[in-house]
Amino acid sequence: MDFIRDYADWFYLIGAVLFILTLRGLSGPKTAIAGNRYGMIAMAIAVLTTFFVAENPVVWMIVGAMVLGAIIGIARARTVPMTQMPETVALMHSLVGLAAVLIAVAAIIHNNELAKLDVGLLQENGVNFHEMGKVHLFELFVGCFVGAITFTASVFAYGKLAAKKWAKTISGTWVKPVQALIFIAMFAAGIHFFLTGNMTSFWAMTGLALVFGWVWIAPVGGGDMPVVVSLLNSFSGWAAAGIGFTLENNMLIVAGSLVGSSGAILSYIMCKAMNRSIINVLFGGAMGGTAVAVEAGDKAPRNHRSGSADDAGFLMSNADSVVIVPGYGMAQGRAQNAVKELANLLKEQGVTVRFAIHPVAGRMPGHMNVLLAEADVPYEDILEMDEINSDFPATDVVLVIGANDVVNPAAKDDPSSPIYGMPILEAHKARTIMVIKRSMATGYAGLDNDLFYNDKTMMIFGDAKKVVEDMTKAINGNGH
Ligand code: NDP
Repeated sequence: MDFIRDYADWFYLIGAVLFILTLRGLSGPKTAIAGNRYGMIAMAIAVLTTFFVAENPVVWMIVGAMVLGAIIGIARARTVPMTQMPETVALMHSLVGLAAVLIAVAAIIHNNELAKLDVGLLQENGVNFHEMGKVHLFELFVGCFVGAITFTASVFAYGKLAAKKWAKTISGTWVKPVQALIFIAMFAAGIHFFLTGNMTSFWAMTGLALVFGWVWIAPVGGGDMPVVVSLLNSFSGWAAAGIGFTLENNMLIVAGSLVGSSGAILSYIMCKAMNRSIINVLFGGAMGGTAVAVEAGDKAPRNHRSGSADDAGFLMSNADSVVIVPGYGMAQGRAQNAVKELANLLKEQGVTVRFAIHPVAGRMPGHMNVLLAEADVPYEDILEMDEINSDFPATDVVLVIGANDVVNPAAKDDPSSPIYGMPILEAHKARTIMVIKRSMATGYAGLDNDLFYNDKTMMIFGDAKKVVEDMTKAINGNGH
């Protein structure tokens, strides 16, 4: 025990290095499993070391909370379907935010008690209480307001991604002034607390930060949600780092900063991929799904061409090259294994088959990569948007499986479209286009898609898994 306490900083250093290796591992599908393992070991080292470093830990409370958390976590991890991962992640971010707020509240109450007792003692020993107090107050101020904003914003993001009725996108000219007012009031209360240590200001700041988190995220809609989720990930990291300062725990400061900065970098990369600026995403509130859906509904009906799985199977087995574009519908229909079988069969017939991944396909960053990895699709067959886009004009068949927004040509052709400027997979340039979906319904951003009405496009209606299985049967039956 003493050994761990004496060498705590060394253990924390090992933990920090392992956390860095974790992030490095998670940056590619091949190394992701090793990355996860490093993360588990690092977390075990961090928790155990902290446990031994703590003075008079209330053992039953800590162990009880950990066991309860582990039971809930394991049960959730075993049962959550892949399609519900994004909202689960958002919910977990909210817990980090809540933890930051509760720790700040506990520390401030504790601090107040200490201040009453110790000012005299500190002064006797030549310690300037006010200076010491201010640094501490600043940490609490930052940790608490970042945590409070993270908490309610993440709860809203959870509700939005899980399509809960209470998580309604708000819009109107009043939104921005109200956001600004709440922000200024929150900041003013925080500064007053920082300067005076006044508890009423602290409670006002916390309450306003909770409200601000909600009104800040509620106007953000549709296609901008992925960036928000990644940004909240970053926030939860900064909140954890703030708690680290409050608790004087170096490990938490390092781990929180790693999460905070990697989340910020991911948000930046995603913004670039969607051709959006972060300011525009957070304060533009432009891509409200509802408004866009109404606009789409106003249009006159248009003609599209549909075909059967048999027709599609025949065309693909006679092609030289096929590019498969998976989207949210593949996840929703749990079609990844059927898709892999189809790809293998086509390859056996001498067709070149590759997968094209858009950075925001699905409902979370890396969603499609995870599903394809789960189905054991070889990594070398999976290409990112920048790698594959120039190949579409020379591709015989592009098979779009449950993707919609990420192949919508309006992003390139229609300056009035809310997604104008967002890079897309240029499936419309292929020689033949096949789209599997259940209806002509819009995708996540609520927009109609010209690709479905293209002369080169054949719609194949049905559930992704069933249609892909039927295609495989058709190719097998044809004996090509
Ligand atoms: P979309 O949501 O644009 O479209 C998915 C399509 O799949 C729908 O049009 C739907 O049509 C079809 N579909 C749904 N279920 C099935 C099924 N069982 N079988 C067959 N088809 C099905 O998905 P994309 O992947 O193209 O785009 C992702 C969107 O989500 C983007 O707007 C992105 O910004 C947003 N987003 C992304 C996040 C991320 O991090 N990746 C997070 C949050 C949002 P139909 O109902 O007719 O079947």
